[in-house]
Parts: sequence; C-alpha cells; structure tokens
Amino acid sequence: MPLKEYRKKRRFDVTPEPSGEKAAAGKPKHKLVYVIQKHRATSLHYDLRLEWNGVLLSWAVPKGPSTDPSVKRLAMQVEDHPLDYASFEGTIPEGEYGGGTVMVWDIGTWEPESPDVNAALEKGDLKFILYGKKLRGSWVLVRTRGFGSSSKPSWLLIKHRDQYASTDDITVTKPKSVVSARLLAQIARDGGGDVAKAATGDPQKAPSKASAPAKKRAKTAAKRTSK
Ligand code: MN
Repeated sequence: MPLKEYRKKRRFDVTPEPSGEKAAAGKPKHKLVYVIQKHRATSLHYDLRLEWNGVLLSWAVPKGPSTDPSVKRLAMQVEDHPLDYASFEGTIPEGEYGGGTVMVWDIGTWEPESPDVNAALEKGDLKFILYGKKLRGSWVLVRTRGFGSSSKPSWLLIKHRDQYASTDDITVTKPKSVVSARLLAQIARDGGGDVAKAATGDPQKAPSKASAPAKKRAKTAAKRTSK
C-alpha cells in the first residue's frame, strides 16, 4: 500500500487534491510521467515527481532544479504520490497538510538511464533523462549520507553536462505554470487562496528606478492623447 502515508496526511473531503483511488489497475502502456510542482506551503519548494511502479516517486527540492552542472540541489525524498497528482494545480486549504498554492511548473516524460531502476533507487544513484517543457537532458539523483532521516532521506539533484546545461537560473527566467501560464499569486487568486503568501514565491519585481518614471510618462502621454 504505497499511498498509505500520502492518504493518512490528507482529508479528501476538505482538500481538492486527488485521493489516488482512481489509479487504474492494468493501465495501458505509456511513457513515464515526470512533473515538477512549485509549492508555496510553509516554505517555498519544488516537488520533483517521477512515475515508477504505478506511483509518483517524490522529492521536495527547496531551491528548485538547477541546469548548471556545478550546482547540487538538495532533494528530500517524501512519500509517494498517486499518478493523477501530476496534473494537480490549485490551492490546498490553509491548516491542511501542505496548505498553500501548487503550480505545475514543468511536465513531460522521463526515461531511466540506469539500466535497473529498482537497483539504482536502492543504491541511491538514479540517472535519467527528462523530456519536459522546461527541463531537458540528462540528470542524476544521488542519495547522500549524514543528512535527512529514514522517513525523509536526502538526495542531491544534479544536471549532467550536455547541450541542455546552462548557467541561467531557470526558476527565475521561467516562473510560470506550463499548463495555465499563471504565476502562484494568480493561482491563489483563482482558487480563493492566500494571494499575498503565494506571491512571495513569485519572482519579486524590484522597484526599478528606470522604468517607473517611464511608465508615468507613458500614462501622462496617454491621458493627453485621450483628451
Ligand atoms: Mn510539496
């Protein structure tokens, strides 16, 4: 019963998250789902999920993925999630487990590069290719010693060197949902969530001294022409 912990933490009559009960037995053969959900809960993090054996293996990545191969990102393994969680975007009521705003930040499919996935997970060294809308190419998850706990083992998420490696910070350059083009604040607004809290997870627009007067001038000009 791999979803036992997932279900235990949630009240499905209160939260709009899926219970996973629809998870089909004898589902058709398909490519393995990959998703990253940006989640503004108690703190901001990115939930990396990889379909395996009928569930989504899940890691919470506090800083999000980096496409720079010299950057290692902490990824805490958390409870498996049901397959239909991959399309969940919306608000989880405050006070519920994970209360806050969830965005589908990236979605696509993945392919293992490690020949035996179960053995790779056991060993703590899983190599894989992502075919997402934002993240592409080869990656690795490596389990670390000395951090985390038995319930939340810690891993490192690292980009391999390939044509998709880049030093640009993709969490800053591509902050919107890949399914709705919304920022966290817009998702919270649409779902009746805490907009101010959600907005703290969106890129902060620095009050630019250069653009503010330009905006004012444009407004004044517009007023003048409309008169
Ligand atoms: Mn989360």
